[in-house]
Amino acid sequence: MIKAIYPGSFDPVTLGHLDIIKRAAKVVDELIIGVLVNKEKKPLFTMEERMSFLKETTKEFSNVTVQTFEGLTIDFARKNQAKLIIRGLRAVTDFESEMQIAQTNHSIDPEIDTMFFTTSLEYAFLSSTIAKEVAYYGSDVSKLVPPVVAEGFRKKYGK
Ligand code: ADP
Repeated sequence: MIKAIYPGSFDPVTLGHLDIIKRAAKVVDELIIGVLVNKEKKPLFTMEERMSFLKETTKEFSNVTVQTFEGLTIDFARKNQAKLIIRGLRAVTDFESEMQIAQTNHSIDPEIDTMFFTTSLEYAFLSSTIAKEVAYYGSDVSKLVPPVVAEGFRKKYGK
């Protein structure tokens, strides 16, 4: 029984995140998406909004659940008895920091490993920040985020 967590800010969830979720859900038995409460960052969407976008867009996957967490990712993994942390890699620029985080986590708890999924090419450029920028200027986000998030942007920005 392989249980994994997929941690992130998901402010908001994009089609790039959903691609990783879909692929990870095929190789693990149980996938818990962890939405981080980050006191340093001021998110555009509230925790409730970010959670509800994720729940809505992952409801078709019976082995995927969504939770919120605060503090260290490794503690969130331990609390859920998960032995795997899933992360996505877009470009070399992600690599350095992701490797550092993965090595730190592994040194804290050698029982827990990080598994990376490389982005599908069509989402290689995509981040939540990019989606927010495109939405802010009123451009079409339908190729970047699921419909429920596009609707969320419309409410937030009124366009
Ligand atoms: P964080 O703030 O922890 O980076 P994000 O919500 O931005 O959280 O991302 C969560 C994870 O999803 C990270 O591992 C990130 O690299 C990955 N990710 C984000 N966008 C994409 C994408 N377009 N393709 C593949 N992985 C992605």
